Amino acid sequence: MNEKSIFTKIIEREIPANIIYEDEKSIIIEDISPQAPIHYLAIPKKEIKGISDLSESDQGIVDHLMIVIKNEMSNQGINDYRLVINNGSEAGQTVFHLHIHILANRTLGWPPG
Ligand code: AMP
Repeated sequence: MNEKSIFTKIIEREIPANIIYEDEKSIIIEDISPQAPIHYLAIPKKEIKGISDLSESDQGIVDHLMIVIKNEMSNQGINDYRLVINNGSEAGQTVFHLHIHILANRTLGWPPG
């Protein structure tokens, strides 16, 4: 069997993280190396490697994350934020368990680096 991803280990409480939201399908944690004053990761509990690995049976996973993100940010009173998904190592992906970065509370430049 493949080694569990670091995010699955967090979901299964094998390693610690600051968990700010959890439901049966997803979790939001604080990024360990924040790139903005607010830097969260929204992660599906299903271990999908990345956007390229989504299949038809994964319908509903990403839109669930979007609603969870919208609700959490709304609860925190944060209206302006950037969502980022790195897909593949050349795009900057380092953890191969799908996740959406949520960046907020600083001015974010465009185009991104
Ligand atoms: P990516 O480079 O898009 O794959 O993003 C992976 C993110 O996971 C990076 O921003 C890391 O800082 C973050 N990360 C890695 N390990 C941990 C951890 N143990 N707890 C929280 N965030 C982590």
